[in-house]
Amino acid sequence: MQALTVGHIGNIQIKLHPTLALIVLWVLIDWGGYGVAGAAGSLIFSLLFVALVFGCVLLHELGHAFMAMSHGVRVRDVTLSVIGGVARLDHFPAKPRTETMIALAGPAVNIAMMVGLAPFIVLYAVIQGFVWPRDFAELLLEPSPAGLLASLFMANAMLAGFNLLPVFPMDGGRVFRAGLSRLVGRDTGTRVAVMVGQVLAVAMAVASLIWLQNVTVLLLAVFIIIVGHGEGRAVRVETAMRRMRVGQFALWDMGGIAPSQPLTYALRGGPRDVVVTDGGRVVGMLWRNNVLSAIRGGSAAQSVADIMDVDVVTADVDDSVFDVQKQMTELKRWAVPVVEDGEYRGIFTADRFGHLYRQVTPSRLSPKHVAGMTTLANSLLRLWVR
Ligand SMILES: [Zn+2]
Repeated sequence: MQALTVGHIGNIQIKLHPTLALIVLWVLIDWGGYGVAGAAGSLIFSLLFVALVFGCVLLHELGHAFMAMSHGVRVRDVTLSVIGGVARLDHFPAKPRTETMIALAGPAVNIAMMVGLAPFIVLYAVIQGFVWPRDFAELLLEPSPAGLLASLFMANAMLAGFNLLPVFPMDGGRVFRAGLSRLVGRDTGTRVAVMVGQVLAVAMAVASLIWLQNVTVLLLAVFIIIVGHGEGRAVRVETAMRRMRVGQFALWDMGGIAPSQPLTYALRGGPRDVVVTDGGRVVGMLWRNNVLSAIRGGSAAQSVADIMDVDVVTADVDDSVFDVQKQMTELKRWAVPVVEDGEYRGIFTADRFGHLYRQVTPSRLSPKHVAGMTTLANSLLRLWVR
């Protein structure tokens, strides 16, 4: 199911996931029939309340997004779904301080909302002569403007409190991971945070089934387990790739091809991307597709220099696989020449990377297992709708 883009705030796309319709359905079924202001009034109140709560969720996510952007992290979009909001960042900064700031910016927005709402609620309470906590509890159920403000106050308190639980990958879990990273390093810190988060998520799932009978909490628990597992794995792979040198994984090559050689010469041993060298130095890349289309277009008589790409970026044998792969993705390159002290040594390709990635990805949870968990989440959702 694709999320729909409904607008932009700055450069950030705002998207709504189709599962949000379930909330409206839930309101229609659950709240449509009761209320002192009559069914219609109660329904309008409920829908308005839900819309405002999701507005608060959106502001929470924008808090993360703007803090991330102020630290130079690109934000792709903010998506609201049945289990809440997600701000999709390009990456989560490895620096514990930055990660903490971005994680806290979301709940900080909710706390700011509470601070903003509090004076109105206190003023109302003074005018009405509230004495007991029961008076406030009754106000929450009241379909009136004051009741709406009080309910919004509670919703923000719950959003802040819930997100600050130390359950990775929720905000509190990220702060927890950042704190652990300072003590034991990012790799071990993430492993511990994911483990703690998954134990708490299982406890949440059990509690939601037995006591709360709340499917949203159950879905959130399943989401935490799946996303936590995925992020934990991504960090393990990143740590492994930062340790590996690209020289270890390059295809060693006997000197590449010279600019003066005929184009057909590049096809020896099958079509592939070839590095063009002059006196041992890299001077260009000959992309396989360009060679094939030049030959198909009848320009076989051309020399390598005629169609080579001179805008070439090289990697050093001692560069980490992580940095080289990141650069290849940014520049949209399939292959990078690897040099040692400026001399051409070999080529590192996307194929080599894919091979290496499969080796460093621990296979404790196969894609089959993840697919199984997703199916489970989907059937739970179906159960709920029924
Ligand atoms: Zn958050």
